[in-house]
Amino acid sequence: MSNVYTKTLNKLIDELKKLPGIGPKSAERLAFHILKAEPAEAMTLAKAIADVKNKIKRCKICYNLSEEPLCNICSDNRRDKSLICIVEQPKDVIALEKTGACKWVYHVLGGHIAPLEGIEPADLTIDKLVDRVRSDNVKEVIMATNPNIAGDGTALYISSLLKNTNVKITRLARGLPTGSTIEYASGKMLTDAIIGRQQLK
Ligand SMILES: [Zn+2]
Repeated sequence: MSNVYTKTLNKLIDELKKLPGIGPKSAERLAFHILKAEPAEAMTLAKAIADVKNKIKRCKICYNLSEEPLCNICSDNRRDKSLICIVEQPKDVIALEKTGACKWVYHVLGGHIAPLEGIEPADLTIDKLVDRVRSDNVKEVIMATNPNIAGDGTALYISSLLKNTNVKITRLARGLPTGSTIEYASGKMLTDAIIGRQQLK
């Protein structure tokens, strides 16, 4: 970083550059914006960042993001707890919830199995899911992992673990292009995929 800036300003620019989609020019622009902002405005931003790290935890049941021990969805009595929709990331819960077509609860895996990237089943919340399916009165598990190789592999691995249970296993499929992600699918596509889910087991 250029010596024309003070050490503190360089530090802020360096941190901003680490954000996705922020190049050196944007980082400089943001840093100067923050520098010029009213102290209260800048501190509100700093506090919002600190709060996200301090207050947001994982739901004890489904591992979705939550500020309480249980997330809004797990604590909602109108949800059908016998249907568990399995997703890779909290962002996928948001995409599916936006369709308004989901009355189920979720289980957030925290990613997908990818041995080449060093992500093994034990790194995800798969064992917690199996416990949940065995101990709760679960009728159907809906696999909503991404429709790509890693997501398909993860869905198949989980369905093999649940083979000896009486749980019906389905997979969101129709309407979702192969190789795409839940996060970026349109609401219409996701709704079609929810309605047209196919049985895996
Ligand atoms: Zn939850």
